[in-house]
Amino acid sequence: MTQLGMTRPAMTQAGMTGAACAGIAPRDRFDAVVVGGGPAGATAARDLAQAGRSVLLLDRAGRIKPCGGAVPPRLIEEFDIPDSLIVARITAARVISPSSRQVQMPIHGDGFVGMVDRETFDEWLRARAEAAGAERRRGTFERIERDADGTAVVLYRPGGAGDLVRVRARVVVGADGARSAVALQCVKGAARIPYVFAFHEIVRSPDRPQQDFDGTRCDVYYGSAHSPDFYGWVFPHGPTTSIGLGSAHKGFGQRAALTALRRTAGLADAPTIRREGAPIPLRPLRRWDNGRDVVLAGDAAGVVAPASGEGLYYAMIGGRLAAGAADAFCRTGDARTLRRARRGFMREHGQVFRVLGLMQRFWYATDARRERFCSICRDPDVQSLTWTAYMTKRLVRARPSAHLRIFCKNIAHLAGVVSA
Ligand SMILES: Cc1cc2nc3c(=O)[nH]c(=O)nc-3n(C[C@H](O)[C@H](O)[C@H](O)COP(=O)(O)OP(=O)(O)OC[C@H]3O[C@@H](n4cnc5c(N)ncnc54)[C@H](O)[C@@H]3O)c2cc1C
Repeated sequence: MTQLGMTRPAMTQAGMTGAACAGIAPRDRFDAVVVGGGPAGATAARDLAQAGRSVLLLDRAGRIKPCGGAVPPRLIEEFDIPDSLIVARITAARVISPSSRQVQMPIHGDGFVGMVDRETFDEWLRARAEAAGAERRRGTFERIERDADGTAVVLYRPGGAGDLVRVRARVVVGADGARSAVALQCVKGAARIPYVFAFHEIVRSPDRPQQDFDGTRCDVYYGSAHSPDFYGWVFPHGPTTSIGLGSAHKGFGQRAALTALRRTAGLADAPTIRREGAPIPLRPLRRWDNGRDVVLAGDAAGVVAPASGEGLYYAMIGGRLAAGAADAFCRTGDARTLRRARRGFMREHGQVFRVLGLMQRFWYATDARRERFCSICRDPDVQSLTWTAYMTKRLVRARPSAHLRIFCKNIAHLAGVVSA
């Protein structure tokens, strides 16, 4: 993030005429208004404040984001997440096929999957953005209007009720999650993002070891009984556990499937703490900006990894890239700089998203294919490449012989030469 040589009041006034500011008090004029205080918005607000921008972080608040809470070590390192927020370290996964065959996938070395509780994680990120200089306000974004000189005026309802408040922004970061109101109002194509609807329950973890539950292991259930097009999961968080599933099929009975999954996972009698659901976007938008002064980040931009549904790391990276693009826009006034957010993201992660998208479309299509997919997961090279790619967020290029063997196995499975 570039540091600017200007003082904050000088920048706040930059580019504003007296006429354009009329009716809006100086305390309601910002370089950037970030809508949404989830991981994407809190990251963007912090980075912009650290770059010397005057920032409003506007969040609706009042609801804990439904989420499995699994994060890779790269997120923890890159975003300086303290150990105190990691409520569990997972050191293995177990994949369960439609015919109930099990594949153990241990993580070798010192690798792990971190677990965060969104209630504390998101609040900590917002507080960190505030400590960096962002102003926090609670309110629900309603719409963007234009001032006399065309500058964005963001209208929000404080605390979700009361009279609308107007704040002026040279740039708006839309980080208000799936089905983002900012995206729907400002960015072409936002209404066409496909979604998986994910539903989970937070239950109390068993206090004694059980046959089907291990507090250091994530379980991933494949099969049309759990989901016709996605998967079911059991993610332990220490004293609590997230158990859930997702599907894009409207007619699929998620609640009944989850009740069955709880039985299968040995968690039927675990006390339920919360029960909640939310959409997971399945495809990044083609544009993340409006070509003028709005840029999107995170779920608002449709950025969740296909096949896995992993969105936290990508939301924070998206928030960082959106902040960089918004800062460059404030500095130059050139709206083309806003495109840098998507371009930078796709350069780094586009290939992973394409590969995962293909995987989801092919391997999650039928139980027969899911069975074969689980069978491929037995291969130690597949396991090693999967974990390395998850933890480092890079496609692994090492060991060409392993890639070749996996490729041949894939072809053999696809051609039906080998059975599950
Ligand atoms: C059930 C489920 C399980 C998941 N499990 C995982 C997982 O294990 N690991 C993983 O990496 N990802 C997981 N994801 C995906 C992950 O939760 C999201 O990708 C991530 O939260 C996106 O972050 P975000 O900041 O873009 O959006 P969000 O986290 O949705 O944050 C959006 C913020 O905007 C605010 N907001 C919304 N509308 C308005 C408005 N009009 N005005 C003001 N504020 C507003 C909300 O209050 C919220 O704070 C899961 C998702 C679901 C639904």
